[in-house]
Amino acid sequence: MSGDAKVRLGISSCLLGNEVRYNGGHLHDSFLTGTISKYVEWVPVCPEVEVGMGVPRETIQLQGDPASPRLVAPKSGTDHTESMSQWANGRVDRLLGDDLDGFVLTKESPSCGLMRVRMHRDGGGPPSRDGVGAFARVLTSRMPDLPVEENGRLNDPRLRENFVDRIFVRRRWRAMLRDNASPRGLVAFHTAHKLTFMAHSNPHYREAGRVVAQAGTLLWDELTQAYGAVMREALGLIATPRKHTNVMHHLMGYLKRSIDGDDKQELLTVIDDYRQERVPLVVPLTLLKHHLRKHDVPEWVHQQVYLNPYPEELMLRNHV
Ligand code: SF4
Repeated sequence: MSGDAKVRLGISSCLLGNEVRYNGGHLHDSFLTGTISKYVEWVPVCPEVEVGMGVPRETIQLQGDPASPRLVAPKSGTDHTESMSQWANGRVDRLLGDDLDGFVLTKESPSCGLMRVRMHRDGGGPPSRDGVGAFARVLTSRMPDLPVEENGRLNDPRLRENFVDRIFVRRRWRAMLRDNASPRGLVAFHTAHKLTFMAHSNPHYREAGRVVAQAGTLLWDELTQAYGAVMREALGLIATPRKHTNVMHHLMGYLKRSIDGDDKQELLTVIDDYRQERVPLVVPLTLLKHHLRKHDVPEWVHQQVYLNPYPEELMLRNHV
């Protein structure tokens, strides 16, 4: 299972540098248009332009109750709630056929913001930060399985790595469903992602194994829905240094008869340096991969997506 084919991501158009904001500006994000763009096919969406508000346009805001907010241009009083809702549902109908692996939204936008968007309460007072953008709300409720992130959160190296991990897993998952939809395909997928699961959640790995064991009794749709739900829940949990350390110790178990005491001590030291956040994950993993290549280990170990989850050039494991 290679991690180097292109993923297809929806994106708030202004993040690509398109001049679609209310003031004719953009919010170009250099991470998204940098190295990662070589591996991504973007599907840009600007809800406010596509719904017909034009550029430049009056600013809008969320008003009322966070559970059912209104989208209003406060200066003119124009209420865009209904038109945005209708347009967003139609746009998501089309996105459902677009084979998306994820979506990157613009933070704090009353249309695109995923969380903590300013809500202006009817009684006045300072806005609360508990709104969800009008388009983001429709997107996430209609496509609950889709990995979704905001540009601001992607500045956090762990959240960034987690999001990229999820979109590449989703692409491989969908490839299996398309090209190899069979219990055998599911077992191969599960085997290749064993350590990926473990890096996120051991209990979820065991639960996913229990689902796979029902391959002979459950209908295919029930089986893949159950497995997909466990997988998404697992990948929503951040892979911490402690969990990565457990995975690397687990991998070392396959080397215990083939490496000498010095090599073993060197590996343990560098894994511990990583656990204590003195060196990035790439350091112990590079050494571990070197030994796994040189020594005789079970074939399934070489097949682990965990060892090469996405293109190395993205350097997502290079942070401390
Ligand atoms: S945040 Fe969304 S609605 Fe606003 S300019 Fe960007 S893409 Fe358009």
